[in-house]
Amino acid sequence: MHPFVLERPRDLSAALASGAQAGRNDARAEYIAGGTDMVQLLQEDVRRPERLVSLAGLLDNRIEVVAQGLTIGASATMAEVAAHPAVVEQFPVISEALLNSASPQVRNQATIGGNLLQRSRCPYFRDVGYAGCNKRAPGSGCAAIGGENRWHAVLGTSENCIAANPSDLAVALVALDGSVEVRGPNGQRTVPLIELHRLPGGGRGARHERLAHPSGACRAGRCRNQALARPQGGSSPGRRQPRSGDAPHGRDPRCRRRPGARA
Ligand SMILES: Cc1cc2nc3c(=O)[nH]c(=O)nc-3n(C[C@H](O)[C@H](O)[C@H](O)COP(=O)(O)OP(=O)(O)OC[C@H]3O[C@@H](n4cnc5c(N)ncnc54)[C@H](O)[C@@H]3O)c2cc1C
Ligand code: SF4
Repeated sequence: MHPFVLERPRDLSAALASGAQAGRNDARAEYIAGGTDMVQLLQEDVRRPERLVSLAGLLDNRIEVVAQGLTIGASATMAEVAAHPAVVEQFPVISEALLNSASPQVRNQATIGGNLLQRSRCPYFRDVGYAGCNKRAPGSGCAAIGGENRWHAVLGTSENCIAANPSDLAVALVALDGSVEVRGPNGQRTVPLIELHRLPGGGRGARHERLAHPSGACRAGRCRNQALARPQGGSSPGRRQPRSGDAPHGRDPRCRRRPGARA
């Protein structure tokens, strides 16, 4: 593993001033929250930052139903959100998406911010033995296009990358018209969830470019709509849904707005 320095800033302002960047291949300093994804990336040599800036204890972990909908602090764990009574009752698609993700051990440690900003699960991205991965090494090609790709995206792909968004929660939040608060050195702004992630291969100038603030820390996920998403066909919390159809920015066809839902 590449050696790194772990920094523990005293507050969020210090963390934002640290120069850590989210989702940048050339970042020398990166954030770490629960560490369930970052530690794997370090072990696999996919990421080699010189500094890791810990967000532990710096971000909101509250889960609240407010007038506009549901607000989730970025440091709430996947397990806390999945089990919250208001989430289970009023936003079951969020609870089910989280319970269908990972394992109890991971969900107890992983944060909502980290879930939304986890890196690609494409096996070619995760294995530095493969030279061709535009997401890991821009301009190197895409080994998945001519390789093993049955778990890759079928919609929203490009000639540069066919990776599916790995976050089950992101799909649910897009279906609910969710948004995230992003804070960076230049202030705070709200970004619709559908615009948080770039499409595979999306370059600068694309609609998504301005939205992924490279040095921002994700503070909170927010669902503005009081929506009840009811899975069709009787999906149960214990059953893992197929991931190949999880289009990165597509609306989940299992989700339907409740008539009369408040926005
Ligand atoms: C065995 C296993 C199975 C999994 N299966 C699933 C699954 O089925 N479905 C699914 O959706 N996920 C799955 N995951 C992924 C899991 O959900 C993520 O690892 C987890 O949510 C990441 O959260 P974290 O707090 O540990 O993030 P970290 O590992 O700490 O960080 C992840 C990334 O996000 C960045 N980051 C974290 N927080 C912030 C923030 N607040 N602001 C800016 N950047 C930030 C970090 O720099 C890093 O790049 C699985 C993971 C494992 C290990
Ligand atoms: S699909 Fe994307 S992440 Fe996977 S190898 Fe191709 S460029 Fe890399």
